[in-house]
Amino acid sequence: MSRYLSRRFDGLEEYIPGEQPQDRTYIKLNTNESPYPPSPGVLAAVNTAEVARLNLYSDPDARILTQALAAQYGVEPEHVFLSNGSDDILNFCFLAFCDGGAMFPEVTYGFYPVYAALHGVAYETPPLRPDLSIDPADYCSAGRTVVLANPNAQTGLALPLSDIERIVQSNPDHVMVIDEAYVDFGAESAVELTRQYDNLLVVQTFSKSRSLAGARLGFAIGPAALIADLNRLKFSTNPYNLNRLTQLAGAAALAEQAYYDENCRRIRETRARTRQALLDLGFTCTDSRANFLLASSPAIPGGELYRRLKDRGVLVRHFTDPKIENHVRITIGAPDEMEALLAAVRAILG
Ligand SMILES: *Cc1c(COP(=O)(O)O)cnc(C)c1O
Repeated sequence: MSRYLSRRFDGLEEYIPGEQPQDRTYIKLNTNESPYPPSPGVLAAVNTAEVARLNLYSDPDARILTQALAAQYGVEPEHVFLSNGSDDILNFCFLAFCDGGAMFPEVTYGFYPVYAALHGVAYETPPLRPDLSIDPADYCSAGRTVVLANPNAQTGLALPLSDIERIVQSNPDHVMVIDEAYVDFGAESAVELTRQYDNLLVVQTFSKSRSLAGARLGFAIGPAALIADLNRLKFSTNPYNLNRLTQLAGAAALAEQAYYDENCRRIRETRARTRQALLDLGFTCTDSRANFLLASSPAIPGGELYRRLKDRGVLVRHFTDPKIENHVRITIGAPDEMEALLAAVRAILG
């Protein structure tokens, strides 16, 4: 840290992303990317002719993509906000809507406390239940901005829409943000509820179910006034934050939804098979609705399993948070990748 850095960032602890190692090829099951490539239309849309137009700025309103998303989710374009990955949108949410403080679970997406600290937002973190589920009662009448990942990050457990509605109803004076990064893998989306509640914002991403993590494309759906607030912040920082190629890729992906639906179905199927195999090996494993499993074995600590898998060329994610330090988070990859994971686990457990 230099002596020039603003004092308010003195103690800021940045988010540590999952490893993206370049030293060797791993079976990469650590950052919840899709094992499947983008659909053929995406590959065709991002072509040499479009690269040759990179001398021109992108459309700051991303009109084509916004309209396509609005059509797909059955809302008007003024209910759709787009930005450079959903991380970017979550950052705007902590900047925009948290004057009265925030509340999110003790175990969840590690970026929430970082954004809160970045923007000086005080926050409360109700613990999970012993089975790692969220108790919705903790968030009713919270009196502050509630941010919930549904399915929750790290655990994959999902709340039903009825619980989301109960929470949003009980907090009419604060925004509730539902981070649906993993919703396409088997949870109920709250998009429909955003028609009824002027304080509900749903954030989604193209990074997981739509195979575009590297393109950086996130979106929010919500009441027009909240979307206008987000646009005000985006146009006060970086209006061109969605590059031309990403806008084309996103629109092309939406035109091939069936391809992504089929990939999600395959991932759910692989998830069920992998989970059963881990249970058979004596693991406990959350009933994940996301494209990952959170698993722990009584035979080996989470950190050690992570390291020994890495030695064998299989990368999973380990968190030092005491609540889940004995677990590893395993992204659902292609079937052959999961076979390799299970073979490595069997070899390690002897
Ligand atoms: C992956 C993830 C994100 C970030 O997605 P990007 O759109 O790639 O920025 C946000 N929230 C949760 C819970 C995630 O797991």
